[in-house]
Amino acid sequence: MRTELVSDPGLADHPNEDFASVGLPASGQGGSLVVLDGVTPPRSETGCLHSVPWFTARLGGALTELTVSLPDVPLAEALSRAVSRTSAAHAETCDLSHPRTPQATVVLARWSPASVEYLVLSDSALLVEAPDGTVTAVLDDRLARLPRSALATDALVDAHYRNKEGGFFTAAADPSVAARAVTGVLPRSEVRTLAALTDGAGRWVETFREGDWTDFLALVRKQGARALVDRVRELERADAAGSRTYLGRSKTHDDATVAYAEL
Ligand SMILES: [Zn+2]
Repeated sequence: MRTELVSDPGLADHPNEDFASVGLPASGQGGSLVVLDGVTPPRSETGCLHSVPWFTARLGGALTELTVSLPDVPLAEALSRAVSRTSAAHAETCDLSHPRTPQATVVLARWSPASVEYLVLSDSALLVEAPDGTVTAVLDDRLARLPRSALATDALVDAHYRNKEGGFFTAAADPSVAARAVTGVLPRSEVRTLAALTDGAGRWVETFREGDWTDFLALVRKQGARALVDRVRELERADAAGSRTYLGRSKTHDDATVAYAEL
């Protein structure tokens, strides 16, 4: 077992809104990965007194605890419970029905001696490598499938697409969103390596085309996740004129997180 976690803020003067953890319970042989990407609101009105990092720390902390302490509870149910717990922490002070209530993308993976379970919600990714080296990217591509015109303004996205039927879903205040996630279970014997990443790190493939997901995993294995994130930062600086756009996001730098586990 080898694990590595790197989480790098996109901006020096803005808190990192990603969350990452590796849980290795004392029972041995099993473990979990949790990676969240907090959604940055475009303006200050969110109906919530709290910051995005406040939200991701609570949701991510609950997911870390629930995935390792309740190994028989499916990941979608763990997500549902974690959202409920997080909502309860500010339901009395905040308007959780606001479309911009704090929210996050979610990647979960959990392994036992027998199986590997996974869950992906919104545009973070999970890479699964088989013993023969084949890499499969588990993606929830609802956001990517929306036409660019649908993402023209934040108001349009909030009114018609964000956590709406036919749009895309993030983990916000409603626990039923867990049923929207991409989930699955694989035999442990079919998985050699896992990597969970936020789209800030995924830019290496999706924006800058430095290679495919197999190349991404090979770089993380050989040179480490820090080398991968450093390369993304280098490419972003070279591209700072903004000739590329990022799916409705025009940030030059985004928080970038990689959680890697060789089982
Ligand atoms: Zn709040």
